[in-house]
Amino acid sequence: MTTTFDPHAITTAASARGLTKTYGTGPAAVHALDGIDVDLAPGRFTAIMGPSGSGKSTLMHCLAGLDRPSAGTVSVAGVDLRELNDDQLTRFRRDKLGFVFQAFNLLPMLTARQNILLPHELAGRSARRRPRPGTPAEIDATVKAQVDEVVEILGLTDRLDHRPSELSGGQQQRVAIARALATDAAIVFADEPTGNLDSTSSAEVLSYLRRSVRELGHTVVMVTHELDAAAYADDVVVLADGRVRTHLSAPDADELVRALGVTR
Ligand code: ADP
Repeated sequence: MTTTFDPHAITTAASARGLTKTYGTGPAAVHALDGIDVDLAPGRFTAIMGPSGSGKSTLMHCLAGLDRPSAGTVSVAGVDLRELNDDQLTRFRRDKLGFVFQAFNLLPMLTARQNILLPHELAGRSARRRPRPGTPAEIDATVKAQVDEVVEILGLTDRLDHRPSELSGGQQQRVAIARALATDAAIVFADEPTGNLDSTSSAEVLSYLRRSVRELGHTVVMVTHELDAAAYADDVVVLADGRVRTHLSAPDADELVRALGVTR
């Protein structure tokens, strides 16, 4: 058996080259992304920041295969997304990516544990679709160990039998994060994950996200417009008018403030 060496799989979790997204045509055209080149490092927590309308959501949607660019390339976990048809892209998202949204998106009739295990249950229905090697019993044991680890890091061990309505907003978002991390996701995309939370719960959720990157080696890409949220990230990509204005590594608060051109 030959193994193909893929440098993207090692050096970047996701990268974009000449990424362009235009909505509409003619004089009404909006250039949401205007030639983005960016490399997101694996095992790090990256925040995508910028003013409203700068292209953050569009960039995330293109990186996560939720939207197709007008031009340019996106490579995630070594896969060029242009080469996937719509069905393959859907499978790729399900097997390789995790998602955390502002609105938690938990199923209300399921307990926290059932919500966290749902992606595995869905994948396990068909052996053909199972993304992992091994017998069903081996897969169950691996998944259980992985879920136990994630649940402990996220401080949810004593909340697993509660339904979403019995949990605070911060706890619900931690369940959503556990669900995303408990799969073998190459990247977890978080879209304004603290948008529905008060400042105490936000700080808690962000420190748990950071711990999961540091202690479990996950790769998290978070869209946020909140300076305080970006302060938890390792790297910060700042967008302006659909372009990368700057890409900072471990910025301090002053650097962030300067890069964003805001006053505190
Ligand atoms: P951000 O997330 O930074 O607020 P977006 O990526 O949502 O920015 O939007 C970037 C630009 O693209 C904005 O000018 C926005 O109005 C425009 N835009 C986004 N989605 C659409 C769409 N579906 N149709 C038309 N214009 C859009």
